[in-house]
Amino acid sequence: MGSVMSDITCPECGYGCATIDTYYKTGEEYVNCNRCGSGSSVTIVNRPEDGNYPEDWKPEYEEKSHKTAHAFAVSKDPTGGIRSCGGLKRNQLKDFVRDVKNSDEVKYATYTYKYRELWFIKDVINDTKKPFADTKYGDEEQRCS
Ligand SMILES: [Zn+2]
Repeated sequence: MGSVMSDITCPECGYGCATIDTYYKTGEEYVNCNRCGSGSSVTIVNRPEDGNYPEDWKPEYEEKSHKTAHAFAVSKDPTGGIRSCGGLKRNQLKDFVRDVKNSDEVKYATYTYKYRELWFIKDVINDTKKPFADTKYGDEEQRCS
């Protein structure tokens, strides 16, 4: 599966280093923003289940997008190595924090939030926060290179 990853400005929050993953052979693409968690996808929805493509088969695409207010990351590894990440809507944040605090397995968890036009990242387990701009993702110049 050949894909090309490049940077794109997030249509929701304006972050310049959202990523777009383009599968040039199939025309599918995935956009993800790790500042606000929003994203979108264009995927083929009519692949034959048995893998036998009729001669006149043409791809049918489906576009989906999700707008979220927070990006989250969780990991069972305290260094933040292995993680899952994605976006949370405003009303999902409370549950996320509760689930992290109730879990013995999660060793690292963060979410982002916007306060007075600035983005911050909150470490749920250590109860600390810092400006998103100070993270490895924050320096758009550097990360977009
Ligand atoms: Zn965004």
